[in-house]
Amino acid sequence: MSYQYIGENNQILPYNQGKVVCVGRNYAAHAAELGNEIPSSPVIFMKPYTSLVNWDGQVTIPKNRGEVHHECELAVLIGETISQSKQEDVFNKLAGVTLALDLTLRDVQQQLKDKSHPWELAKAFDRACPVASWFTIPNEDWLQQAKFSFQINGSVQQKGEARLMLWPVIELIAWVSNYITLSPGDIVLTGTPAGVGPLQQNQKITACLDGLFSIESLVEVK
Ligand code: ZN
Repeated sequence: MSYQYIGENNQILPYNQGKVVCVGRNYAAHAAELGNEIPSSPVIFMKPYTSLVNWDGQVTIPKNRGEVHHECELAVLIGETISQSKQEDVFNKLAGVTLALDLTLRDVQQQLKDKSHPWELAKAFDRACPVASWFTIPNEDWLQQAKFSFQINGSVQQKGEARLMLWPVIELIAWVSNYITLSPGDIVLTGTPAGVGPLQQNQKITACLDGLFSIESLVEVK
């Protein structure tokens, strides 16, 4: 596996692969579709750097592990260390924005949840985090209201809007930094909107981020 941080003009960005900090249930409608309660504080989990892969013309998912769900999410790249930070100090330390897939082995996750075990096996496997090219964040207001969509074979499955997050991007990152230091090169995935579902061989998936870019890929099971 090789993963490099790619910028908007295909340049290589100078960051080392870091951890991926994810939030579960950050949209009320998605919490409801999986039968989860709306949490009173963010539900945080992580994917290791070995789960990172560049999201390009092909998205590879594992076979024989049950359903592999797409969770399309707004992703933020950390540019400077964020630790115990106030909300007003966060934005200037962010290096970029894009979309990522929080690929999830849904059947495995359900089995783990049933046993009250951690979710790592369902979330942290190799290639579990395809990340598109990074873009400069237009401004803080844009980030707090960014819209994105995810389609399969031309039909819209997921529509995200940052202003509908239970914990908006900046607040979420400040909150996380009280517990976990975010270092340059770390990535924060900000949660998935409703509409998650299984990916299948040869589906054409298209993701679009609010006027910045869109990406088209073919799903391969391997
Ligand atoms: Zn997710």
